Amino acid sequence: MTPIEDRKCRNCGGSEFDEATDYLLLRKSKVSFVGSEKIYTFCTNCGEVLSIRLTNPNVFKK
Ligand SMILES: [Zn+2]
Repeated sequence: MTPIEDRKCRNCGGSEFDEATDYLLLRKSKVSFVGSEKIYTFCTNCGEVLSIRLTNPNVFKK
């Protein structure tokens, strides 16, 4: 886990976060073969999701 500093949960004010992915690809369309997984950064205290980040945004570049 990467330490994430200077962030506070907007729901409970907690400062401990972790990251996880659901291993589902975000794709441009149903027939796209390429896509990117999402990394969720969430509060380990209440579960509020702070941010969702793509692991590979380059696949959406033209
Ligand atoms: Zn929280």
